[in-house]
Amino acid sequence: MNKVLSVDSLHKFYGAKAAVSGISFEVARNEIVGLLGPNGAGKTTTINMILGVLEPTTGTIRIEGRDVTTDRSRALACTNFTAVYATLPGNLTVYQNLRFLGMIYDVKQLSSRIEELLAQFDLKVFRNVKCGLLSSGEQTRVQLAKALINRPHLLLLDEPTASLDPSAAREIRATIRAFTMRDGVGVLWTSHNMYEVQDVCDRALFLSHGKILLEGDPKTLPQEHGKTSLEELFITIAREPLTLGAE
Ligand code: ATP
Repeated sequence: MNKVLSVDSLHKFYGAKAAVSGISFEVARNEIVGLLGPNGAGKTTTINMILGVLEPTTGTIRIEGRDVTTDRSRALACTNFTAVYATLPGNLTVYQNLRFLGMIYDVKQLSSRIEELLAQFDLKVFRNVKCGLLSSGEQTRVQLAKALINRPHLLLLDEPTASLDPSAAREIRATIRAFTMRDGVGVLWTSHNMYEVQDVCDRALFLSHGKILLEGDPKTLPQEHGKTSLEELFITIAREPLTLGAE
């Protein structure tokens, strides 16, 4: 089975308001899928349902074929997550943070897994430094190491490069791309940076008002819809979702 994540007819209502309105999509192994959309489109709500933090109103989410609602712990054991707003405890060192999270995930041979990740993310020199003292770029590397600690098959990245300078962001994108290809991970990536989406994503989903209006290769989507850039396409969808969705 090549699909890591399958989302089927997912809805989330807050009272009468639909934050997510019947979306279906999949993420395959070795694939990075961008989840794009204007503020309030429903991206975080979708991610929180996949993580089992929010309960869907209706619809199903399967990770490696396991239903997140009915087989939650097994589905989430092979999932992990990172986001700019989910910072690590600043008073713990890099090593302590990784150890603590590895214990939560019950990672086997945790010490050697931590050593692997410290080497992979060039963090050995920061092993005993408190996370609160690290720069944004260094903290992002620790967050990614933390996100890989349980060798996830599905990785959810909510604006992983949002606080980084262009050079650090490029490096992080290359690192994520490399382990996605090497380790057979499927990645769902939210970003407001259209350059980044074109650079790193194999496929993009455009969400607006809780619905997927467009899906395709971010490198060719603009031309297919008569636009010169992904940013121009994004702005059109954000302003006139019904017009473009009807094409
Ligand atoms: P952003 O890019 O700004 O982070 P988003 O695409 O992640 O936006 P969501 O946070 O998923 O958007 O919000 C989708 C819609 O659901 C918004 O209109 C938001 O106001 C609404 N919403 C989210 N959480 C709640 C809640 N707990 N109660 C009521 N409405 C909510």
